[in-house]
Amino acid sequence: MSNKRDYYEVLGVSKGATAEELKKAYRKLAIKFHPDKNPDDKEAETKFKEIAEAYSVLSDPQKKARYDQYGHAGMGGASGFGGAGGGFTMDDIFSQFGDIFGDDSPFGSFFGGSRGGSGGRRAVRKGSDLRIKLKMNLSDIAKGVEKKIKVKRYTSCNTCGGNGAKNGTALQTCGTCQGQGQVRRVQQTMLGQMVSTSTCPTCNGEGKIVSERCDVCFGEGRQLSEDQISIKIPGGVSEGMQLSMSGKGNVPVRGGVAGDLLIVVEEEEHPDLKRDGNNVIYDLPVNFVDAVLGTEVEVPTVDGKVKIKIKNGTQAGEILRLRGKGLPNLNGYGTGDQLVHVNIYTPTSVSSEEKKVLEGLRNSPNFEPQKGASNRSIFDKMKDFFH
Ligand SMILES: [Zn+2]
Ligand SMILES: [Zn+2]
Repeated sequence: MSNKRDYYEVLGVSKGATAEELKKAYRKLAIKFHPDKNPDDKEAETKFKEIAEAYSVLSDPQKKARYDQYGHAGMGGASGFGGAGGGFTMDDIFSQFGDIFGDDSPFGSFFGGSRGGSGGRRAVRKGSDLRIKLKMNLSDIAKGVEKKIKVKRYTSCNTCGGNGAKNGTALQTCGTCQGQGQVRRVQQTMLGQMVSTSTCPTCNGEGKIVSERCDVCFGEGRQLSEDQISIKIPGGVSEGMQLSMSGKGNVPVRGGVAGDLLIVVEEEEHPDLKRDGNNVIYDLPVNFVDAVLGTEVEVPTVDGKVKIKIKNGTQAGEILRLRGKGLPNLNGYGTGDQLVHVNIYTPTSVSSEEKKVLEGLRNSPNFEPQKGASNRSIFDKMKDFFH
């Protein structure tokens, strides 16, 4: 991911390019590297995908803003967070192509063909997606993490280069369908001649067949391997969020575009801290005497322990706010706070000596509850005690 090219660089425009300029640049490059103009050219296909990915981000004002601020790290792999579209497939690109070129596009027939399946060209095959769960604790979520994980996935067979033929020799055109992938059947019926087409049974619609199989992958063109993949996860993610890395899923049988690797965030519960959006809540039991006289206590935060002051005369139910000690907003809009809820701990048993002291205080006027002391508005209670 780190060697990914800058999207502006990919499109050959400056950072300040207008939407119109971006569109123009995209159009020009997309035509140049279109798969129809560059058949069987893997490099052109890669370029084509790269261009489309760059444009899909830069043409979307929200994604563009995120990219401008965070670069690729802000995109969660290649194309942002789940729901926002997941990974990038050739199909996505083609549908996008349709939009930008319109019906009078020189590629119009091509789209009809690839989508309807009746033309000469078949859609690019995409392998299956892989889904993994990634456990993250609150500290990970606070800082964002880069994790290296091992993923078992199908990758292209090294021996045959992915086409499944022995030593990577060229595939043969299927004799049954003459490479069309489909067979026509003409039947005479009472209503006249009926023509039906169906997928070629010999080549399964691929139009090509392997005459002699690669003996490493047995003609599959792919092999199961363990890949170490580095994933960068920005701070502020939450349970169930899905990030996708395009092209890190399985390669399909006998070549095509790899599926995506979907990473689902699993939030680990913290023993003391509770998450509330971007804020973190901590329940702090305070010794009754400390609440009366004031003290300093240590509290856990997502970023280690910090000392906070308990003011003399602190009331049960007060909330102390540790500004900026919460979790970052995923889109970069600031950081949450840690809210410390004060609970006054009441001893459940006392010695006879303690009892004597307390009895002596029982009727002291200072111990008479004062109206208003403990029900100040919540805004008054939110004071900064962090130092
Ligand atoms: Zn092979
Ligand atoms: Zn065939």
